[in-house]
Amino acid sequence: MDINFLKTLGLSETNCGTTSGKKSYASDNWLESYSPVDGLLIGKVSVTSKESYDQISATATHAYSSWRLVPAPKRGEIVRQFGEKLRKYKEPLGKLVSYEMGKSLQEGYGEVQEMIDICDFAVGLSRQLYGLTMHSERSGHRMYEQWHPLGVVGIISAFNFPVAVWAWNSALSWVCGNVCIWKPSEKTPLCGIACQNIWNEVAQENNLEDGICSLINGDYTVGEYLTTDTKIPLISATGSSRMGKIVGSTVAARFGRSLLELGGNNAIIITESADLDAVLIGAVFGAVGTCGQRCTSTRRLIIHESIFNQVKEKLTKAYKQLRIGNPLDPSNHVGPLIDRTAVELYQKSIKQAIEQGGTVVVAGDVLSGDSYTSGCYVTPCIIEAQNHFPIVQHETFAPILYIMKYTDLHSAIKMQNDVPQGLSSAIMTNNLRDAETFLSVEGSDCGIANVNIGTSGAEIGGAFGGEKETGGGRESGSDAWKAYMRRQTNTI
Ligand code: NAD
Repeated sequence: MDINFLKTLGLSETNCGTTSGKKSYASDNWLESYSPVDGLLIGKVSVTSKESYDQISATATHAYSSWRLVPAPKRGEIVRQFGEKLRKYKEPLGKLVSYEMGKSLQEGYGEVQEMIDICDFAVGLSRQLYGLTMHSERSGHRMYEQWHPLGVVGIISAFNFPVAVWAWNSALSWVCGNVCIWKPSEKTPLCGIACQNIWNEVAQENNLEDGICSLINGDYTVGEYLTTDTKIPLISATGSSRMGKIVGSTVAARFGRSLLELGGNNAIIITESADLDAVLIGAVFGAVGTCGQRCTSTRRLIIHESIFNQVKEKLTKAYKQLRIGNPLDPSNHVGPLIDRTAVELYQKSIKQAIEQGGTVVVAGDVLSGDSYTSGCYVTPCIIEAQNHFPIVQHETFAPILYIMKYTDLHSAIKMQNDVPQGLSSAIMTNNLRDAETFLSVEGSDCGIANVNIGTSGAEIGGAFGGEKETGGGRESGSDAWKAYMRRQTNTI
């Protein structure tokens, strides 16, 4: 494996994980990052101590006092330059994402492209942070609203989108006039260092103050430095619903705001009239892409009884053709799970699904041999199940697809909604009335509802996020920027 891309990104065997840009804070406590691709140690990153965190927080607060005074279009210009740097580093950064997280190289590049796209979006936005003007009921008065930045934004991110989610949050935060402190996942710390290094180039070229973009590293205990810090008005946290429950209540207890992007349990309803070729593409990509480790991964197929066997057969055939192996090799369709703990959870979930009454359609297995030395490669699996099984109600972050039958559309929609999570959903149908019912107020209760496209993947132009245990947050496009600002009503 040629790992020159690590050098291009300024990474070495040991890396300082705590920095406000110019200033870095060393520690003797290390996080080790092993690749799920080949099981090798990629590098070490030092863990942030509480003392260093306090310095980072103070530097960020200081930087905010001047960054907020920079006109928004000029802040947009900095984000434009950052987008340009990402174009320059797209190849090595995409490779690092693939090697450290385990997603396919194309998906690694795709993730960096999402970062570039959100920068472009944010540049335009920097000239469009509009407030409304209202007619006052009092004569001779003028009333309007304006949007001010919040201050220091804390970003906590998950392993499965190790760079894009940070960019979604930071690009919008910066044009809005905020500064950011990021704690990446402890499973993908090198991706965080690489992004900070790219930012540092832009900061240096523009002689920017230290602290506009800061990085801390470690596990949940370092995350807690952020969530309990009363100087941080907004915490944007992406990860499991379990984490969101803790973070949401901790931040609320100090009257902070949180933006939560949590787990999904996404279903596709397949009606009698569906185009089965489109179904197959959407369902297979949605269920096995990123080895089932997307928040929008397809976890359930709710299939009309009249076509159930036909869909099952087609899926089985497609699953048998999947090539599993090194995600940096473009001929493979499915890469590894993130680590061996994830493999154990996958095995445990399959066992539970069978115990709860499920029938295996395509068996799940852990692969061994020379190509699978990391021990993280598994085969995507299909289980015929019932929606109410406790394991089906739960998000297992692995390629396990539950398939189930329905007889009428209303019961299918009820099944689709009858899980604790509410992120993404889809219907495959050529019947306009069925599609409109699915999108109506009686339809999907999710933040994302698609017709004839799977549950997975999203464009940066739309607001991204979900309801119920997915946390209610919205990020990225549309008017998601409002979450990063405070509204002020003015009467003169
Ligand atoms: P995780 O919840 O284990 O960790 C996510 C992040 O939260 C990590 O940085 C972790 O250190 C931090 N953290 C955990 N507990 C914390 C605490 N008490 N205080 C502060 N920080 C804490 O999630 P993961 O395994 O990295 O990622 C997978 C999960 O993320 C899945 O549930 C997936 O659906 C979800 N996810 C959601 C979205 C979305 O946009 N809705 C996007 C990506 C991933």
